[in-house]
Amino acid sequence: MKITIFGSGYVGLVTGACFAEVGNDVLCVDIDEEKIRRLQQGEIPIYEPGLEEMVIENSREGRLRFTSDIAEGVAFGLFQFIAVGTPPDEDGSADLRHVLSVAESIGRYMEDYRIVIDKSTVPVGTADLVQQKISSVLAERGMTYDFDVVSNPEFLKEGDAIGDFMKPDRIVVGVDNPRTKELLRTLYAPFNRSHDRFLAMDVRSAELTKYAANSMLATKISFMNEIANIAERVGADVEAVRQGIGSDSRIGFSFIYPGMGYGGSCFPKDVQALERTSRQFGYDARILQAVEAVNHDQKSSLVDKMKQHFNGELKGKTIAVWGLSFKPNTDDMREAPSRRLMEALWDEGASVRAYDPVAMDEARRIYGDREDFELVEHPDHALKGADALAVVTEWMVFRSPDFEMMKKELNEPVVFDGRNVYNPDMMEQLGFSYYSIGRLPRC
Ligand code: NAD
Repeated sequence: MKITIFGSGYVGLVTGACFAEVGNDVLCVDIDEEKIRRLQQGEIPIYEPGLEEMVIENSREGRLRFTSDIAEGVAFGLFQFIAVGTPPDEDGSADLRHVLSVAESIGRYMEDYRIVIDKSTVPVGTADLVQQKISSVLAERGMTYDFDVVSNPEFLKEGDAIGDFMKPDRIVVGVDNPRTKELLRTLYAPFNRSHDRFLAMDVRSAELTKYAANSMLATKISFMNEIANIAERVGADVEAVRQGIGSDSRIGFSFIYPGMGYGGSCFPKDVQALERTSRQFGYDARILQAVEAVNHDQKSSLVDKMKQHFNGELKGKTIAVWGLSFKPNTDDMREAPSRRLMEALWDEGASVRAYDPVAMDEARRIYGDREDFELVEHPDHALKGADALAVVTEWMVFRSPDFEMMKKELNEPVVFDGRNVYNPDMMEQLGFSYYSIGRLPRC
């Protein structure tokens, strides 16, 4: 089948590569000409395990192509996927500028029936706006081509995006036209083989499903961080509590790790956007507000502990930071807890020496040549002469470091563990001052 995908970011590129992998002809369109030029040369602008090989192989086979020519994109695919960004507006609601700009282009250039599929995360009612935009542009042109608008939210996780796309838990499709529903079912058949995971529903329910899923996951994280904060105050160990509640099959172990708060390009903006949508419809979404507020404060938890340790005086200190991406296996630093931590340290007059296995280029791009920020090529190099180590992202490589060497290299053996990677008893025995989340400090 012929597929056009607007937006060649995390979602668009993975979607394009996976559809091409199963034999479709895919054209990826992006307005970022530099990105398209790099993709045409086989250079992948993001870090996502397995993606580079898949893009290169399918490009070589001629099933995956890239262009910044919008009209060519509209002319190409019967299926027109919208996978552009929906960043938060100033008031937290989703900014639909890019989505509507694609809709406008489709209306401007279409010459035949098209199925317009919204894969971006968009508020309930957006499919109607896309429909109206295309209709109004067609009316300006004096044309009356048929088209359908479908909501098909994406649930992939960065770091495991290919696996999630190839073997999805569910394929949610919000569609009114029964014939289009069957076409979508056929399109997704290669990813729906072991048992039926194709969930067809009305468009508004599909749009809301995506926000509900991300908000539920964010709620689990904030809930657990709240329990961690209570544990610290009452002298309990949140890791024991986590085991104790996770073993209840109604609760389960996934997404109940305490930490430095959720980040990334999805949870923060999606919780906010759903809260704003609710408000627009006259409902005060109090759980969502609390989830956001807890998360906001949680991102400062490590700096609060540092201030406590250093008697409020962080000026002139050098902090080694391990991990910059918002979670392991991605280079994405959007809303990453590392950013809040480092920015707070800089505000206090401290400097940062940081290492991350893949997000260093991204960190360089964001923070440029700040004098109080140094990136090093090996985790151990961050430690030399630093006043403390902060573990911010739980990359595998940080799990079992050489603690004796760490002790020697640091000015003072202090570790602030924002992900509860280490065992507090062990850290105490090794002679570290050790601070973690939801567990009493060991000093
Ligand atoms: P991204 O920022 O990585 O990529 C978006 C791309 O769209 C950019 O390359 C941009 O240049 C391009 N673009 C903007 N306007 C365009 C236009 N008019 N025509 C063509 N291209 C255009 O974004 P992303 O992380 O891939 O997210 C895309 C959407 O998918 C968002 O709504 C996001 O919430 C949702 N989503 C993201 C993830 C994720 O893990 N990143 C997961 C599920 C859903």
